[in-house]
Amino acid sequence: MKIINPATGAVLTDVPSDGIKAVRAKYDRARSAQPRWAAQSLRKRIAAIRNFKEQISERQETLARTLTQEVGKPIRQSRNELKGLAGRLDFFIAESTRALRDETLLADSEQKLEERISHEPLGVIANISAWNYPYFVGSNVFVPALVAGNAVLYKPSEYATLTGLHITEMLHAAGVPEDVFIAVTGDGATGAALLRQSVDGVFFTGSYRTGAKIAASAGRRMIKVQLELGGKDPIYVCDDVDVNAAAAAVADGAFYNTGQSCCSVERVYVHEAVHDAFVDAFVAEVKRYKIGDPLDEGTYIGAITRRPQLAVLKRQVADAKKKGAKLLLGGDVLKRKGNWFAPTVLADVDHSMEVMREESFGPVIGIQAVADDDAAVDQMNDSDYGLTAGVYTANEKRAKKLLARVNAGSVYWNCCDRVSPRLPWSGVKHSGIGLTLSTYGIQTFTRPKAWHLREA
Ligand code: NAD
Repeated sequence: MKIINPATGAVLTDVPSDGIKAVRAKYDRARSAQPRWAAQSLRKRIAAIRNFKEQISERQETLARTLTQEVGKPIRQSRNELKGLAGRLDFFIAESTRALRDETLLADSEQKLEERISHEPLGVIANISAWNYPYFVGSNVFVPALVAGNAVLYKPSEYATLTGLHITEMLHAAGVPEDVFIAVTGDGATGAALLRQSVDGVFFTGSYRTGAKIAASAGRRMIKVQLELGGKDPIYVCDDVDVNAAAAAVADGAFYNTGQSCCSVERVYVHEAVHDAFVDAFVAEVKRYKIGDPLDEGTYIGAITRRPQLAVLKRQVADAKKKGAKLLLGGDVLKRKGNWFAPTVLADVDHSMEVMREESFGPVIGIQAVADDDAAVDQMNDSDYGLTAGVYTANEKRAKKLLARVNAGSVYWNCCDRVSPRLPWSGVKHSGIGLTLSTYGIQTFTRPKAWHLREA
């Protein structure tokens, strides 16, 4: 498998891809190693994650450069991902003991009856991952899974394989046995081979299209399945905002990571009273973004990681223009080596256009005027997706009223494109099923076992 730098088109290296036999052998190793890992004390398993965190901080600059070279992410944003990861690991380290301890629900001395719950590991799990935030989306799964006593077969995205191999090396150095965390490398065919093994659960991050295939395959086998999928995340800008501040914040939410985040802002609705001023401020902000070599400290817009996405973005822009949208900025690929798309702002969009319905996953945004709050809620909810949604307003009551009516896994007041380890991360509709992060996102890697205990 060739690893290509999307910013230059240059081949970085070759990595072996696992065929069905290799995947089978890895599964067998994980299956036989898991009970020993589960029998270790929780304290030991948490200590390994603490060591993993140290490994990351020691190698931070090398890891950031690898990530930037293989996915085209601006170097500062690669460093931010690693810094953010430290905070997530701190959460898992601090919270796991509480989340995984046995619970006594009833201790009735008269009836001599006790009822308890223990949190048992699922066993061997498959973690099939995406490339856009490989440290975040990977660790949301494999860290609590390992802490809970599972063995993990981790398939990094074929676009973030080198990062996946760094992660594997660091976990092993940190004290996770080599047969308890195993990298499975390759593309979708390798992922499909992994799903054919008798795993006890599949935890997937990726597109709705692939997620639907995985759900179908897992459903027949009655194993636990979690899918963290795409989004078409809306923001509503009310008529009482500081227009310049809101425009800068929403533009960052749309264009950070070159728009390649599951929770990127993908639709903007603006109250008609401030629409024109907002659009002017938004375009002025986006014009200031520096596009260029992702290794350059000043770069804000990097490369498009997957080459086929360029055609999707071009098609969305053409479709919007044909149906009456106004192209205010960008609109096409940039002619240079590698995969590049100009930051693109479309106004006068509506829901007949693909750009307001299909995930763009790139630096393209549509802005639509709305008459009032009711119209904004209708538009926000008119989507196959439901990952996040946000409202910008000076009025807290108004924000809470609006957000209560929005159908999404996470809702934001005066912020966007934000994830917290303390809160559950989940989506509704085509954005997925199940959740990661928070206490629930630790317990999700376990099976609650019910104990009915009566003294004779
Ligand atoms: P993708 O669906 O193309 O690939 C995801 C993973 O699935 C890769 O590892 C790939 O090799 C594997 N795969 C592909 N076909 C498979 C098959 N038939 N069987 C098993 N595995 C298979 O997605 P991507 O391009 O890597 O990621 C981008 C998508 O992920 C976007 O839609 C984005 O919104 C979503 N995403 C969601 C979250 C979230 O938390 N909800 C986070 C990050 C990314």
